Amino acid sequence: MNHLINNRKPISVFHYFEEISAIPRGSFNERAIADYLVAFAVARGLEYSRDSLNNVLIKAPASPDRVGEAPILLQGHTDMVCEKNGEVEHDFLTDPLELYLDGDFLRARGTTLGADDGIAVAIMLALLDGEIQSHPAYECLFTTAEEVGLNGAHAFDYSQITARRMLNLDSEELGVVTAGCAGGVRTDLTLAYHPVAFAGETIRVSVAGLMGGHSGENINSGRANANRLMGRLLAELIAQTDARICTIGGGSKDNAIPRECSAVLAVPDFSAAQDLLTNAAVRLADELSAEDRGFCVTAEDCEPETVMLTAEDTHRAVAVLTCSQIGVLEMSKQITGLVEYSRNLGVVRQEEGKLTFVFSSRSSMENQLDAAERELDLLAEMTGCTTRHHSRYPGWSYAPVSALRDAYCKIYRDVTGKDATVNVIHAGLECGIIHSHLPDMDMISIGPTMHDIHSPNEALDLNATETFFEVLDRLISVL
Ligand SMILES: [Zn+2]
Repeated sequence: MNHLINNRKPISVFHYFEEISAIPRGSFNERAIADYLVAFAVARGLEYSRDSLNNVLIKAPASPDRVGEAPILLQGHTDMVCEKNGEVEHDFLTDPLELYLDGDFLRARGTTLGADDGIAVAIMLALLDGEIQSHPAYECLFTTAEEVGLNGAHAFDYSQITARRMLNLDSEELGVVTAGCAGGVRTDLTLAYHPVAFAGETIRVSVAGLMGGHSGENINSGRANANRLMGRLLAELIAQTDARICTIGGGSKDNAIPRECSAVLAVPDFSAAQDLLTNAAVRLADELSAEDRGFCVTAEDCEPETVMLTAEDTHRAVAVLTCSQIGVLEMSKQITGLVEYSRNLGVVRQEEGKLTFVFSSRSSMENQLDAAERELDLLAEMTGCTTRHHSRYPGWSYAPVSALRDAYCKIYRDVTGKDATVNVIHAGLECGIIHSHLPDMDMISIGPTMHDIHSPNEALDLNATETFFEVLDRLISVL
């Protein structure tokens, strides 16, 4: 293979990254990368295992000077988010990524780069290949389908792990050590309604132009939720007139703060409803943050529908939209500024006779996730809905004492002359699942700097990658 990068240290990390970038590895398409990892282990006579989800574990013995010391677990995910620019011809199932250098950054032409988390794969391969001279035994875990629900980490058989110290290599900022994360649960709250024949005039209401963002990391940003704002508008309307929902839909992902929501309503008088909605929208705009300055509400004429919800079902739907507790629900009492418990109403969708409201609740505490399920069960009971809780994953609560974290921070300071920031995030990581299986594991999540992950602008900072490896080298040499 002709390599693009030849003047960086250690060169093996960059060469492995280039090699795996030729292997398509979107989520649920990890067979080929697992084949590659297994072939790597076989060629070097290393112990390995592979499961039905293509998780791969490779073990390597300690260097001769470190035999008998406690092993260390390194972990990262093989899958990547597949996003490309509209005009780009790229088949993520068959085509290699086209890497290129942009100054001190590595990028892929028109597509995501997959440094999240390909850099972890490359680093683990370099380590297994002997890049660090003096090291304890390695257990390198390559998980799958992280980006679509942490599926690989959920399914892995952790009885194969003997290490009780773990470096998760899935963080994106050199100088930040992640030391805790939130767990979560999704709830589909469903209203089975009884359609009746359409009567009255129609009006289409749309809420648009909001900022949106990640439902965990941006939940305390003060950004408005389009589904909730639609609920507020409808609540004003039904308080003053006999408005009925015909159709409604908002948001597209449970883990994104929705930016848009629209509904078609039956009203007795189009003009009166239009005036009321327009005035209500002006008052709502005053409540929003500067980031949501693009907020706009349109209330316009549209084709009549054939059916609509009853008044009772319409009121139930508006109650779910407005009375559900969403946004920041609790702040951490231990860590200043950290959101502990939150909820997003990400999606409202309509199928044959059913309205479904999709909630995503997050907390670092299992007890709050239990409470989240109960709260939504009660809301459902009061509004004549049913719930289905699913995709629950555990959080990783901050450990007051961590020898691994202390060692990393000290070495980081020695190498860079700067203090590392210890961070706890309000989003999910595989660490939460691993921690739930191996509660006595001392763990941190670290990685080199990358920008705009999950987008075609994704870039890996090559200088940060070199520094990161230097810190890792020193850490592993003394662990
Ligand atoms: Zn990742």
